[in-house]
Amino acid sequence: MNASSKFVYLFGSGRTEGSADMKNLLGGKGANLAEMCRLGIAVPSGFTISTEACTEFTQRGRTPVLALIEAQVLHGVAFVEAEMGRKFGDATNPLLLSVRSGARASMPGMMDTILNLGLNDQAVLGLAAKANNERFAWDSYRRFIQMYGDVVMNLKPSSKEEHDPFEVIIDMLKEKRGVQLDTDLDASDLKELVQRFKSLIRARTGHDFPTDPWEQLWGAIWAVFESWNNERAKIYRELNDIPQSWGTAVNVQAMVFGNLGDHSATGVAFSRDAGTGEDLFNGEFLVNAQGEDVVAGVRTPQQVSLLGSRRWAELAQVAEAERARSFPSLEELMPDIYTQLLHFETTLENHFKDMQDIEFTIQEGKLWMLQTRNGKRTGAAMVRIAMEMLQQGMIDEKTALQRVSPDRLNELLHPIFDPKALASAVPIARGLPASPGAASGQIVFFADEAEAWAKKGKAVILVRQETSPEDLRGMSVAKGILTARGGMTSHAAVVARGMGKCCVSGAGAVHVDMKARTMTIGGMDYAEGDWISLNGSTGEVFEGKITTKNAELSGDFGRLMALSDRYKRLEVRTNADTPEEARMAHSFGATGIGLCRTEHMFFEGERIVAVREMILADDESGRRKALAKLLPIQRGDFEGLFAAMSGLPVTIRLLDPPLHEFVPQDDASQRVMAADMHVSLGKIKMRVDELHEFNPMMGHRGCRLGISYPEITEMQARAIFEAGLNMRAKGIDVKAEIMVPLVGTAREFNLQAAVIRRVADAVFAERGEVLPYLLGTMIETPRAALVADSIGKVAEFFSFGTNDLTQMTLGFSRDDAAKFLPDYLKNGVYEQDPFRSIDQTGVGMLVQMAVQKGRSVRPGIEVGVCGEHGGDPASVAFFHRAGLDYVSCSPYRVPIARLAAAQAAIGV
Ligand code: ADP
Ligand code: MG
Ligand code: MG
Repeated sequence: MNASSKFVYLFGSGRTEGSADMKNLLGGKGANLAEMCRLGIAVPSGFTISTEACTEFTQRGRTPVLALIEAQVLHGVAFVEAEMGRKFGDATNPLLLSVRSGARASMPGMMDTILNLGLNDQAVLGLAAKANNERFAWDSYRRFIQMYGDVVMNLKPSSKEEHDPFEVIIDMLKEKRGVQLDTDLDASDLKELVQRFKSLIRARTGHDFPTDPWEQLWGAIWAVFESWNNERAKIYRELNDIPQSWGTAVNVQAMVFGNLGDHSATGVAFSRDAGTGEDLFNGEFLVNAQGEDVVAGVRTPQQVSLLGSRRWAELAQVAEAERARSFPSLEELMPDIYTQLLHFETTLENHFKDMQDIEFTIQEGKLWMLQTRNGKRTGAAMVRIAMEMLQQGMIDEKTALQRVSPDRLNELLHPIFDPKALASAVPIARGLPASPGAASGQIVFFADEAEAWAKKGKAVILVRQETSPEDLRGMSVAKGILTARGGMTSHAAVVARGMGKCCVSGAGAVHVDMKARTMTIGGMDYAEGDWISLNGSTGEVFEGKITTKNAELSGDFGRLMALSDRYKRLEVRTNADTPEEARMAHSFGATGIGLCRTEHMFFEGERIVAVREMILADDESGRRKALAKLLPIQRGDFEGLFAAMSGLPVTIRLLDPPLHEFVPQDDASQRVMAADMHVSLGKIKMRVDELHEFNPMMGHRGCRLGISYPEITEMQARAIFEAGLNMRAKGIDVKAEIMVPLVGTAREFNLQAAVIRRVADAVFAERGEVLPYLLGTMIETPRAALVADSIGKVAEFFSFGTNDLTQMTLGFSRDDAAKFLPDYLKNGVYEQDPFRSIDQTGVGMLVQMAVQKGRSVRPGIEVGVCGEHGGDPASVAFFHRAGLDYVSCSPYRVPIARLAAAQAAIGV
């Protein structure tokens, strides 16, 4: 890069240099401001300083970057002056600017905007005279000092209860004047605020508020660049997988004023409902207000559309007459502006072919657009909008599939309140249904405490007056969020929807006392730690804990799944150990069982007694006696699974864990066991000692058990074949696949296969009929992958056990990795938790190699994956590329895997 590079891009009515496809360079906000200019939409003129300048800034600091961009910024300001017919820094006709950050991906509330920049003690008089409105000028000035003091001069609260020191001063003044709202303060009050704010800044920072507009501008530009690296921006990027290296652009733009009186306003709107996805233009606005007032939840905003306003009134229990008088919609208040806004919104949605989140300001009857972007939305809205836009012919099938992030489907599968429990519950308060879902938890009032409590495994509901970006981490661990102030577009609402987290906002009846750590609703006190429940779909708040029930696939979700199935190549099976799990997974679209862990059946009820008898037995005949008791129980289990998956493959893995897992390790339980089984405590202790292993995960487990004790394998094989034949006799189409765990050599597999085949022949001879079955192996030791060709000659299918394969390939114990993995992730040793998303470059190589080797000796050999990775979208994409036949995952992840498989097939 050299000094002649272009860093500044103009936008306005006269000239626009950027466009929507320049997001990497101009950030999302800057690129779309330019695009709106190109579409002929009214946007205040301005210019964008590119993300490349931010990168330079991060690497080299202020002075070199000033040299690079100074002339271009001067030229940009001159351009805006010419477009607006005002002069920056002028005492009589001052041009005021906003300075706004904007990265490639939208990071709401992450980096603060400064409005009304360019004001000082002279310019404020000029502004007042020019607008013939003294109150407006001083209101703008005090807002500017507030924002600049916070963002650039770094004025922070002195305690966490203080929240915002400027607001404290405003509240004191309001109290003194006996008024409720900011809008009730008059010009002289605002003048007083300006003086007080300046003194506060001087006292707390030791610096005077800068009077030179250019000094103000450069201070703001650097602050935006620096804010890219502030703590909350970093947290947001971490939570959302946004690279730290991108940088932010800076948008410098002429101000338009929503605080010029009753014909001015500011607002935000969505082209569709961000909570439900309904195709309904909706939004909120405030009359005589500026910028962040709507988002910050300072006053309860009004609804943009009449329909929205009526719905709001119903929820807030405001009578129609009262609504029309005190909270009229923009549609009623300024019908012409509303029509124009609707037109802009339609134009933008059709242009971007996605739900738009727009920001606008009305200055004395003229509508200005300040931002448009693809709106954040809940998982449910994501699905509905994609499917409806497909239906409306706005997007094609592949685009619809790509519009939904598989992980977000989680939200649609998550529990809702059990209607029965809900019927008897009485709401204690009502707010806005800001983000759907059901949540019960204990009240906490501070974000850092939400984190601390959640760490201890507690379910918490974060209750706040309103939330701010500092609360992000606390919000992300809370089960739900309740705020007393703020609308559907408040910080809490927007962030909660982005996280897919249940949120009720603007519950006016809730009075929060941060110092006392209580909330009061209609005379009732609730303290920190009390249980409450939130319904984010209705806005209701309940006392106590309400039971929840599972959701179902239907409507647009069902259609999205059907569409996924048309595009995907990978089959999606499920990991299921019980008929109930199998049926649920089947209803979520699983086409078979990829992993049944037979040992899970060993723990339940009476069975564990027989299992322990087998473990305590002195010899083979003793073991056989105990196994004979288990046989009918196992057979019954398998019958249930075959019935639940008629016509679909059911993969059954033979006993896998080390035997010590089945006997109690503590003295008290051992005594109970001794009494139950009529054996001496000494005998139990001796056996437990014998079973003790230093490294159980690499110990006596998997096929090693079956090789030491073939009678266990015999019993399991017999249970499978008898169950299969029994079910077939009932007309069920049985497709059994038997899987040998933890194989490392062909010989190991052969030893087990011989036992299984012998049992099969015996059962078939007894019954006089044959049940076709497949006999395959897990590939989960690195050695098995390395010699997959020799194993493939004897095994009829492979299933990658990627949990063990990861553990053994990386040499990370799955049970101990939590101790060091966070450090590894922080230091970039691995980019993601390798137990969650497959290590493609390492473990993935083994998978690819084994597939290739297996197919080289047995063309068409069936290969699948079972284990956590089967439900991770990035891993699913990798398995698709590796040419696997199926992935198998837990029932709740089946829909996620289906969509991820479709996206992989169309090449996202
Ligand atoms: P964020 O990225 O947090 O949404 P923005 O840069 O969009 O921050 O600014 C927040 C709000 O400030 C905008 O929605 C708008 O209401 C107001 N604002 C920004 N620039 C201007 C401007 N030039 N004139 C009037 N209001 C503005
Ligand atoms: Mg914005
Ligand atoms: Mg395993």
